[in-house]
Amino acid sequence: MPLPPVYGHADARAMLASAARAGNLSQSLLVHGPAGIGKERMAMWLAQRVMCEAPRADGPCGQCRSCRSIDRLEHPDVHWFFPLPRPDAATPEKLRDKLEEARGVELEARRANPHHVPQFDKAPAYFMGTIQNLQRLAGMRPAVGSRKVFVVGDAEAMVPQESSQEAANAFLKLLEEPPADTTLILTSSNPGALLPTIKSRVLPIRLLRLTADEVRDFLVRELKMADGEAASLAAVSEGAIGRALRLAPAGGNAGTLQRQRETGRELLQAALADSEAARFAAANAVAPSGARGEFTGTLESLALWLRDLMAIAAGAPDTVAYAGADEALLRRLASRPGLRAEGVARAILHVQEAQEMAGGNVNPQLILSDLLRSVRRALS
Ligand SMILES: [Zn+2]
Repeated sequence: MPLPPVYGHADARAMLASAARAGNLSQSLLVHGPAGIGKERMAMWLAQRVMCEAPRADGPCGQCRSCRSIDRLEHPDVHWFFPLPRPDAATPEKLRDKLEEARGVELEARRANPHHVPQFDKAPAYFMGTIQNLQRLAGMRPAVGSRKVFVVGDAEAMVPQESSQEAANAFLKLLEEPPADTTLILTSSNPGALLPTIKSRVLPIRLLRLTADEVRDFLVRELKMADGEAASLAAVSEGAIGRALRLAPAGGNAGTLQRQRETGRELLQAALADSEAARFAAANAVAPSGARGEFTGTLESLALWLRDLMAIAAGAPDTVAYAGADEALLRRLASRPGLRAEGVARAILHVQEAQEMAGGNVNPQLILSDLLRSVRRALS
């Protein structure tokens, strides 16, 4: 499946298209802004503009062979890099090969599903082997056109930690003297974490959050979501398509979203129930393993219920975003003796901790039964 079109960012696109038209497009750029707003898609759009066979005044044509092969992530001169977990490897050469193999696997997943949200068991990063692979490709002549483009997503993962100090320095070398036929596009949602020496060599392009309408359009057109549901999901997306996709896993299946919302409600009610058995049962009703994406979605849903509970408890019912139809239930819960806004805030923090743990190898049922007990304590 091809990449979806770019949603939003009209100003940034106009500015970049005009620079490209004037022949002033920088060779090294940094697209930055909040997570999930489409920075890497924008970087691909820019790659399309650089490689397009018949560019228009407002950007790439979207139709030519080059534009289409970038849409399918198949252009031999457009290289998409992103942080990956460290594979087990005995030697630096093996590590390099395995990293390139893992990049291929991840690209294949993105080709099969452009809305694919990567899920890794270990924290992803940029390793020396990744940068060596990038350098090797940068040193080669373009395979079909006259230029090469590198998109380096989440570039802040190249921070000088002990494992990646040398990776950052090696990348810096490339930025200092990029081959004349090479365009480098970095993206980052945390540009403050980039090495200052890297930041000083790239032209920054700042992207803003999308409007709720832009996120809704994406959900309706790309995920075929019903209008009303898309609007309510867009309302809690914080202007980030990535966040909407995380909340709506399984390709945005409306049933999944509804089910998660209900599971979130059941969990909240179980957390507040008087009996320990109710919490135990609710935790055990969650699939023990396998569906990690689903579990993450369930936790996200509980966090959204708690935020809405917070809005009611703080006397701001019109900011309820997620559980609008269940306001009566929220009001009842909010009026419990002992429930305070600070407690709800603490409960939300507990959910965030559980979300971090869910990224590791801990059994979801264990995470959940601990979580429900902590939430109960915070809310009583
Ligand atoms: Zn084109």
